[in-house]
Amino acid sequence: MAAGLLAAAIVIKAGAGGPYLVLAMLTLIAGTLGGTAPDWMEVAWWRSKKKRRGTHRLWITHRTITHWGLGWVALLYYSHANLGAVWWAPLAFGFACGGLMHLLTDWPNPLGVPWIFRRHSLGLWRSGRLESMVIVLTWGLCAVLGDALVFDSVGAVTFIKFVPAFVASEHRALKL
Ligand SMILES: [Zn+2]
Repeated sequence: MAAGLLAAAIVIKAGAGGPYLVLAMLTLIAGTLGGTAPDWMEVAWWRSKKKRRGTHRLWITHRTITHWGLGWVALLYYSHANLGAVWWAPLAFGFACGGLMHLLTDWPNPLGVPWIFRRHSLGLWRSGRLESMVIVLTWGLCAVLGDALVFDSVGAVTFIKFVPAFVASEHRALKL
């Protein structure tokens, strides 16, 4: 969703938000779908039988082609280049932003992500660990990027100015 919001901001900035910003809103939805796409695209949903409770049959090996970095980057590039040219470009762009965000958040855990050819892992933590930190970092990254793109970093500058002022006031409060 964070990636979708960032994508929507980029689409609006590019003047491709469409009437009443409908395309920008669809970009947000596409980004949200794209954020889980690398995992649901590998599920064989047409085969209802489950191997075990809670596990779906896969038709594509986990974290292979659906997690291919170059493919997602190509979609991102192609859809961005076509913003304003074809109506569905914002949707494809949002979807690609979501997909890439998914790869970024899969990257630190041991299985890693096949960015170009072989899977590469940052080897930082196990799957499912530190989820709240991942979510905070993801929203933070998208907020900073969106702020820079749409508002020329007004938000970030205000925040950076606010932190020392806040620390100083807390310091004063503690002394009293
Ligand atoms: Zn994944």
